[in-house]
Amino acid sequence: MACRICNSFTEEVLNLGLTPPANSLLDSSLAVQQTFPLVLELCESCYNVQLRDCLSSEELYLKYLYITPESTMLTRHYRYLYGYLESSGYIKKESFVVEVGSNVGLFLKFIRNKVSRVVGIDPAENICKIANEAGVDTICDFFNSESALIIRDQYGVPDIIIARHCFAHNSNPHVLMKGVTTLLSDSGYLVIENSYLLNTIENNEFDQVYHEHMFYYSIRSMMALLNIHGLRLIDVMTSLIHGGSIVFVAKRENDGIIINPSVNEYLECEQMFINRQSLKNFADKAYEIRGQIGKLIKNLRNTGKTIYTYGATAKGNTLLNFVGLTCNEIPLCIDSTPGKQGKYLPQSYIKVIPEDEGLLNPPDYFLLTAWNYRDEIINKVREAGNYHSKFIIPIPFVHIV
Ligand SMILES: [Zn+2]
Repeated sequence: MACRICNSFTEEVLNLGLTPPANSLLDSSLAVQQTFPLVLELCESCYNVQLRDCLSSEELYLKYLYITPESTMLTRHYRYLYGYLESSGYIKKESFVVEVGSNVGLFLKFIRNKVSRVVGIDPAENICKIANEAGVDTICDFFNSESALIIRDQYGVPDIIIARHCFAHNSNPHVLMKGVTTLLSDSGYLVIENSYLLNTIENNEFDQVYHEHMFYYSIRSMMALLNIHGLRLIDVMTSLIHGGSIVFVAKRENDGIIINPSVNEYLECEQMFINRQSLKNFADKAYEIRGQIGKLIKNLRNTGKTIYTYGATAKGNTLLNFVGLTCNEIPLCIDSTPGKQGKYLPQSYIKVIPEDEGLLNPPDYFLLTAWNYRDEIINKVREAGNYHSKFIIPIPFVHIV
C-alpha cells in the first residue's frame, strides 16, 4: 500500500484481525455488525505508521459517542499544556484560539478566560450541542479549507489553531492541513497533540490501534506532513496523557523562524528507538499479551471467579476482540458515561452498566480496559466501599493489583 503522508511504499507491521469500529456500541444483544480489517503498516521513508484500511469520516463521526470525560487528570493536563504554550509565548492574552475537533469544549472552557476569544469546530451534532449549551461557541462541521473560510469570514483570522488528538482521526490529514493554511494568520501557531508512536511501541499499547486511529505519528512523519504544506516544526513537547502524547508546534515557513533545540533532541532519540526492528518487537509483544490475558481469564473462570471489564473504551474493544473475549467469559462492563449504559460492546456483546449497579454485586476481578485512568478508577472503586475486587491491568504488561 502507499503512505498517506508521503506516498512511499508501506509494509505490514501488525494484524489485529477483523473488528467492528471500536466506538460503535450496539443497542441490542442481537444486533448484527459489520467488521473491517485492522492492520497496521509502516512507511520507512517518513516513519509514518498508519492503518491500512480506513473507514470514512462520515461513518465514524457524525454520531460519535466519545465525550471527553470531566477528569482531574485531564484538567491537570490542560493546565500543563496551556502553561507550556503561554510560557513559550505561543499563546497570549490577546490570542484568538480556534480548536479543531473540540468535542464538548472542555479545553476551550479551561482557556477562554485566559485569551481574547475561543471558537471550536467538531463534526458530531450531539457533541456540538453540548458544547454550545455550555457556552463554548462551536461550529458543527468537518474541518477543511471550506469550513476554514467560513470561520475566517465569521470570526476572523486566529493567532493559534489547536488540534488535539484529531490528526490521527482522519484518513487524509492533507485536508486538515489545507484547512490550517487557509485559516492561520501569517505569524500564527499550529499546535497538534497526538499519541506518540514512540510511547505506543515502548509501552506495548497495541490497544491504541482501532479504526478511529488512522495515524500513529512520529516526529519524522509530522515533519514530512508539515513540510508538504509549507509549515515548519519549531517545537516539541511530550506529556503522559493518554498513555504518552506529543505536542507539535509549527509555523509557516519564513526567514525569521526560530527552532527550539527540543526538536533535534527528540528527533535524535526517536531515530534510535523507532525503526523496523522496534516495530517488529512491538507486534511480538502484542501477540504475547494476547496469549497471557486469554490464559489468565480462562484460569479465573475455571476456578469460578467473576470478571467484569471497567471502561467501555475503544482501546478496550480492540483488546477484547483481539484476545477473543466475549460475554461468555465477561458478562458486564462498567462505564460512567450515560450514553453508553444499556448498550453492548461491539463483537463481544458485553453489556454496559453504570458504576452504582456494578457496585451492588461486585465481581472478583475487573479487567481494566481504561488503564490510562487506572489510579482514578481504583480510588473511585475503593472509596465507594468495594475492597473486594482486584484489577487486571493489561498494558504495558499483564499484572494484577
Ligand atoms: Zn511516508
